[in-house]
Parts: sequence; C-alpha cells; structure tokens
Amino acid sequence: MPQNLLDFDLEGLTAWFGELGEKPFRARQVFHWVHQAGVADFVQMTDIAKSLREKLQQRAVVAVPAINYAHTSADGTRKWLFDVGVANGIETVFIPEEDRGTLCVSSQVGCALECTFCSTGRQGFNRNLTVAEIIGQLWVAQHSLKTEPNRTTGEMAERPVSNVVMMGMGEPLANFENVVTALGVMLDDHAYGLSRRRVTVSTSGLVPAMDRLAERCPVALAVSLHAPNDALRDRIVPINRKYPLRELMAACRRYLVHAPRDFITFEYVMLAGVNDQPEHARQLIELTRDVPCKFNLIPFNPFPDSGYEKPRMESMRVFREILQDAGYVVTTRKTRGDDIDAACGQLAGKVADRSGRVMKRMHKEAA
Ligand code: SAH
Ligand code: SF4
Repeated sequence: MPQNLLDFDLEGLTAWFGELGEKPFRARQVFHWVHQAGVADFVQMTDIAKSLREKLQQRAVVAVPAINYAHTSADGTRKWLFDVGVANGIETVFIPEEDRGTLCVSSQVGCALECTFCSTGRQGFNRNLTVAEIIGQLWVAQHSLKTEPNRTTGEMAERPVSNVVMMGMGEPLANFENVVTALGVMLDDHAYGLSRRRVTVSTSGLVPAMDRLAERCPVALAVSLHAPNDALRDRIVPINRKYPLRELMAACRRYLVHAPRDFITFEYVMLAGVNDQPEHARQLIELTRDVPCKFNLIPFNPFPDSGYEKPRMESMRVFREILQDAGYVVTTRKTRGDDIDAACGQLAGKVADRSGRVMKRMHKEAA
C-alpha cells in the first residue's frame, strides 16, 4: 500500500522522509506543494529532484476520499458529500461571508454518543475518520474554491477558507489523536496557517479529552450544552451521566486558562417545550455564572421520527432576551444553504436520513 501523505503532519512527513534517506527541507518542500499549492501529482512538483519524484511516485500518494456529490446553494453555501467506503459518507460544508469563509468539517462516520435530538447519534457509530480524511476535506475545499470568485463578495481569494469548525458529523474529541494531528496541519504556517482563534472544536463534553486538548492543541472551544440541569441533560445528551454539569463547567474553566479566546461558546439546540422555556434560560445564567461564555442558540432541525419539534420564534426571542438582559452575548444561528440541506451546525440533523429521503433528492439534483 502506498503511503498517503495527507496522513502526516510536517513532523510525521519529515520522519518518513528520513526513512527514505531524504533531508527535512525536502519534506517541507513537498508539504508546501501538497497543502499550499494543492498539488497531488508528484510530476508537477517542479523544484523537487527527479529521483525523489520517482521515489515518491512509487511509494506515496496524495489521496482524498472520492466526492460523491458537490453542490452550491443560491446563497453561496457549498456542500460536498465524500465517499468514505461505509454508511453513506460524510459531509463538508463551506459558508462564505463577507469577512470570512467557514468550513464545517466532519470527524467520524456516525457518532457513538447518542444525543437524542441528533440524527448522526441516532444512526450509531461507524468508524473514526483518518487524518487524511479529515484534512482532505479542507484540502478539497481550499483548492477548489480558490479557483472561483467568492459568491458573497465576488472576489478571488488565495485562501478562501479562513475558519474551520469541527461541527460536522461525529464527536471530534472521541477521535482525539487523528483530530489533533489534523488540527496541527490546519494551524501550520507551512500548510494552511489558520489562526487558533479561527479553528473551533465542538464537543458534547468529553471532560478528560477537553483537558488533553488544552494541553496538546488549544483552539477555540464550543461546548454543546443543550440543557441547564443534570436531569434534563442526562436525557438529551447521555454523556452527561458520565460527565455531569458541575464537572463540565469546571473543565470549561480549566480550558480557558490555555484557550486562544477568552470565552467558551455554548451551543444550545432549542427543542420546543423541552428546553426552551424562560425557567431554562434563568437556570443557564445560574449554571454558567463562573464561566466566561457566549451562547449560540440553534433552532432544532427536524428529521423524521425525531420526537422533537422546532421551537416557536416567540420562545426563541424570549429566551434570547433573558440571556441578553443578564449581560450575555447571544447569537442565533443563521440558516444558510437551506436549499441544499447544509445549514452548518444543523448539519448533523440535516444529514440525518442520508440513507433515505435526502439522499434520494440529492441524487436527483446531481443528475
Ligand atoms: N459532536 C459534536 C460536534 C458535531 S454536532 C457536538 O455535539 O458538539 C454540531 C452541533 O450540531 C452540536 O451543537 C449539535 O448538538 C448540533 N445538532 C445536532 N443535531 C441537531 C439538530 N437536529 N438540530 C440542530 N442542531 C443539531
Ligand atoms: Fe454525536 Fe454531537 Fe450528535 Fe451528540 S450532537 S450524537 S455528540 S454528533
């Protein structure tokens, strides 16, 4: 089996080059070609000695998962569906805005954590993505988007992806080593050079892994809270039974000591009649009193047989105002890319019945 160079960070590539008897600066050159120039074919790496190019051709590849589907919605949101050989693949979504381009990246096929409102959780766990499959999502997005004008600003960008959010399919901290290696490549100036503040890991609250992330690769952190007390969170985010709210809040405070930003983003999916009442907002204020944070309220994105409903606009407004009056910064997630089922953060919900209705429609659209 040839070695996929997308599985390496620069340190790994340098070590592998060492085994081939090649110098570290050669590894750096190839790393630039792969990640900055987006070149997968060794023949095109013109400043690399022919003998090394031939060696690489025999032993290595730069391979991303096959793209099953790519589509751009009317508002410029772009979605790719990748074939990862199992289930129905994974999704990556790009959301262009005036001052940034955000890529929503998947970390696993399925998810073992079984949050009850999440369609990924409902479909169960399939497998972890490899480093190449994680970084490959950014590789494809960056290098295909830089050849087209930004749909929002009309400008061409050398690096269209300025932000990454690990909010696609899967729990990133449950695929820790591969995610940390991929994050390293995203941040590396020899590759994508993204700012730590612009790379966000979203977690349902795996407390020990949050501490390890702070140590190994502190990036911006979003925590999927979704409930203001243990009784309710035990029901909708079952990992809470293992790491209850008191421990989670303490882990957030510890994370902030190392974090590149001075706040945690709490994501809160609004489920009608379940967690969207004024008393829940008031409990949240109490719960997060000692944690510098912002709130991101996400209207539940329905999927068949979910058992939940979208919140009423009015309950979202009241909820938001209670938090804002207490001094919190609150964002309500915009819905983008609706026409291609790609609203980021609602992605997990959107890809829900990938096996059924949505997939069939995608295929129809793609045809
Ligand atoms: N596993 C990680 C990251 C992936 S989920 C996590 O849970 O944080 C990304 C975000 O989408 C999470 O906040 C998740 O709770 C939210 N989400 C999942 N299903 C949803 C749905 N049906 N509607 C709206 N948001 C949803
Ligand atoms: Fe997994 Fe996140 Fe979905 Fe929970 S919300 S099941 S952690 S992907």
